[in-house]
Amino acid sequence: MAENLLEVRNLKKYFSTPRGMLHAVDNVTFNIEKGKTIGVVGESGCGKSTLGKTLMRLHQPTSGEVMFKGTDIANLDLKEFKKKYRSNIQMIFQDPYASLDPRMSVLQLISEPIKVNNKNLSKQEVEKKAKEMMELVGLAKRLEMAYPHELDGGRRQRIGVARALSLNPDFIVCDEPVSALDVSIQAQILNLLQDLQKDRGLTYMFITHDMSVVKHISDDIAVMYLGQMIEKCPAKEIFKNTIHPYSQALLSAIPIPNVHHKQERMILKGELTSPIDPKPCCRFAARCPYATDKCLAEEPVLRELKPGHSVACHFAEKFVK
Ligand code: SF4
Repeated sequence: MAENLLEVRNLKKYFSTPRGMLHAVDNVTFNIEKGKTIGVVGESGCGKSTLGKTLMRLHQPTSGEVMFKGTDIANLDLKEFKKKYRSNIQMIFQDPYASLDPRMSVLQLISEPIKVNNKNLSKQEVEKKAKEMMELVGLAKRLEMAYPHELDGGRRQRIGVARALSLNPDFIVCDEPVSALDVSIQAQILNLLQDLQKDRGLTYMFITHDMSVVKHISDDIAVMYLGQMIEKCPAKEIFKNTIHPYSQALLSAIPIPNVHHKQERMILKGELTSPIDPKPCCRFAARCPYATDKCLAEEPVLRELKPGHSVACHFAEKFVK
């Protein structure tokens, strides 16, 4: 049986605002298998990046559990988490330029996390490891002394990948890692991430708003809507049998490069429900073409309809093809 690297239970992250509590991540439960990639998709503001940052403890969870290698890292003292688990759980950011210090050379940027986390290594040992990392992610030796502004977006993102990998993590949160890149460079970075996963047995959470990107890299896909996980299933399944009405709308927006394929786009109408102190109802009800009184009165829970495929909709059975 497959082993889970991460088991997330009822995770919540609320932010206090002058208008009330913003439910950015609300009662999210899922597992990530070791060595696999879970793609997390949804439109801007759905909570996918907040979920990644909460798993990393960059945001402190409001409540819930995150079991990682037998320890609940969500409720661990922050200092202890940083000491024991920070190097195990790393992040690759969306905008590589913004996440890199412009005054540091490529070699210095990659050496920095190695130096901070391995205080007993000599300067030469740190440099040797940083050079190995450069080679691993395909950065040429001649770029050692280059600065971020001298590089294209793909090479900058390779620095981000090298920095994350330099600490030998088991789990990497990739937060929109290719969204800021040209399409031709996106494929190079996706291939690099996949090769590294194969070689090192890495587990990824791949956050994106782009369904066509996520289908290439994910084993499982989770769809989020206003802080909640509303559908989770194997990646192949979601492209063949999308069940939740919101996931159907999201998928209908992917362009298909075939002139003979007539695709009907599902246009969502209606207002977005506020994520501040939301009422106990389906948060998609205001935009859902199938909403009934039950949807406005009762919150649907994520339930398994078939092995590995879970959906949060009162009438999910109706939408199974
Ligand atoms: Fe639509 Fe109701 Fe299902 Fe929500 S629970 S997605 S409103 S049918």
